[in-house]
Amino acid sequence: MRIGFIGLGNMGGPMALNLIKAGHTLIVNDVRREAAAPHLERGAKWADNPRAVARESELILTSLPGPKEVEAVALGPDGIIHGAQPGSVYADLSTGSPTVMRRLHAAFKEKGIHLLDAPVSGGAIGAQRGTLQVMVGGDEAIYNEVRSVLLGVGHKVGYMGPIGSGTIAKLVHNMISITVRQLIAEGFTLGVKAGVAPEALLEAIQGASFGQGLILSHMIPDVVLKGEFDKVRFALKLARKDVGLATELAREYDVPMPMAALGEQVMIEAMARGWGDKDSTSPWMLQEEAAGVKVRATR
Ligand code: NAD
Repeated sequence: MRIGFIGLGNMGGPMALNLIKAGHTLIVNDVRREAAAPHLERGAKWADNPRAVARESELILTSLPGPKEVEAVALGPDGIIHGAQPGSVYADLSTGSPTVMRRLHAAFKEKGIHLLDAPVSGGAIGAQRGTLQVMVGGDEAIYNEVRSVLLGVGHKVGYMGPIGSGTIAKLVHNMISITVRQLIAEGFTLGVKAGVAPEALLEAIQGASFGQGLILSHMIPDVVLKGEFDKVRFALKLARKDVGLATELAREYDVPMPMAALGEQVMIEAMARGWGDKDSTSPWMLQEEAAGVKVRATR
């Protein structure tokens, strides 16, 4: 396929190289022309601006810093929209804004150009190895048309829903993956200050339920999506006792644990609701109530 690739940075550079390796013909552009050197060496063609890239491409991909750059590259005076052929597909691989993606989708639709949001996760190393998770939003039929190409940038490609859904999934993932680090830092500083070596803590946590990924592999599919908070696997009153003992230990050792304290307060509220004999996952229902939404299986 003739693929246009704009934005050859830490992520886009290796993703574009993998597409060349997969046998596609690439037309590339970046504000830093030197970023395209490895691609041009391997037979890619240079185009001076996004409009010129789009004119020659069946599929246009962008990997740009954020929504501001994506909007400029998509709609600017030399933007993709002015070069792309009706019937062609533009998929943005950057992490951006679902609102901007919806706005771009509407503008491109008027010109008969299909737009997908397709952010990726897995870091620069995943981009080099082609092991990224790609999260795609947009028209499902168009997704199915380009899925095999996207498998060339990441071997896990998933359909998330209408336009903007890929970006929402990506933002949810990053919010969880980034903020949970603070909670882990609280735990490790407590463990080390209370006398356990970090390597031992790592071994314990890697082998235990959290390290084994049970929240994602078991708790969410088997409890939350089914709404089975009354089926007790581990009682809330016992989980609350454990978190209470940990925050007590942190007080003894003068270790501030703001996120753990917040988590404990939510558990106290759930206990006050009379949920002590429900499953330890039941505080999830407080968040659902606060957010005005339930997280239950749809298929
Ligand atoms: P980067 O800064 O390394 O690359 C961005 C590239 O876009 C640069 O080469 C830059 O010169 C180019 N660029 C900027 N404005 C341009 C324009 N107007 N026209 C053409 N080219 C332009 O960033 P990155 O780390 O490759 O990230 C790209 C996207 O992927 C971001 O949205 C980021 O949030 C996301 N992301 C990054 C990682 C990571 O680990 N680096 C992981 C997953 C997702």
